[in-house]
Amino acid sequence: FIIPDWAGFTKHIEDFYWKCKTNTEGKVASYIPQLARMNPEYWGVSVCTIDGQRFSIGDTSIPFTLQSCSKPLTYAIALDRLSPEVVHQYVGQEPSGRNFNELVLDHNKKPHNPMINAGAILICSLLKTLVKPEMGLAEKFDFTMNYFKRLAGEENLGFNNAVFLSEREAADRNYALGFYMREYNCYPDKTNLREIMDYYFQCCAMEANCETMAVIAATLANGGICPITEEKVLKPDSVRDVLSLMHSCGMYDYSGQFAFKVGIPAKSGVSGSLLLVIPNVMGICTWSPPLDPLGNSCRGVQFCEELVNEFNFHRYDNL
Ligand code: GLN
Repeated sequence: FIIPDWAGFTKHIEDFYWKCKTNTEGKVASYIPQLARMNPEYWGVSVCTIDGQRFSIGDTSIPFTLQSCSKPLTYAIALDRLSPEVVHQYVGQEPSGRNFNELVLDHNKKPHNPMINAGAILICSLLKTLVKPEMGLAEKFDFTMNYFKRLAGEENLGFNNAVFLSEREAADRNYALGFYMREYNCYPDKTNLREIMDYYFQCCAMEANCETMAVIAATLANGGICPITEEKVLKPDSVRDVLSLMHSCGMYDYSGQFAFKVGIPAKSGVSGSLLLVIPNVMGICTWSPPLDPLGNSCRGVQFCEELVNEFNFHRYDNL
């Protein structure tokens, strides 16, 4: 096994869990009612290693919507299906240094990276228009959900229609980003913006729990092979690119500090989820709805810091 003393390791995870549980900082997202109603007490941590050892503590079987945690997944599919050369004709690899939904493009008038809203909307346009263009929106939804499920080892993965409808209602900024990018010809030809926006909201409204999301993180840690089903879902090169951008851009405008302090590729979402990928070792998902001012889960970030204080998982430990 990759972690020989599993009981000893999980004891530490439990300790971090209880330590973070007392952290009552942050505010639950309030831009849509379904997120605003989330209990701020929810707190769960799930771990899945690349050889399939698993551990969960807390509220790990309650579903939440993926929100921005869908961004590395749609980016991965786009890379796998279209190649990095094609994808990066349309979207950059630079942290934006701004909020995740800021109305801003880079110097080339492209979205900065696929981990923020503009970039993820653009990735949706590539998946819709360039990957199997004959598929309608319904088929593309199934196609995408099927990928997410395979990454998750066929475990619980659903769709929250109320969140989808709310996202679409409360989406002035996302529409503004969508139109702004159309003004600058960011999309491939034949892109239908209304369809792309719906597709983006659908990806945000996919639903899973910590246990399932830990398997997705473990599939990324394992170079694209799901540790539960042993299915090769993504090419290792695609996963390498996804992890690179999670490392530099995955935690919104905290990404630089997170890379410095924690040094592990991660992605957070506005529902309070946080995916952590320790390459060749394990995937972790934490979930706690209260967010700090930059939009990251307060307990999630604290958990990551506790983890690297105890274990040498930081990219530049072991020098
Ligand atoms: N649905 C959210 C949005 O588009 C997702 C962003 C996030 O998780 N930060 O604004």
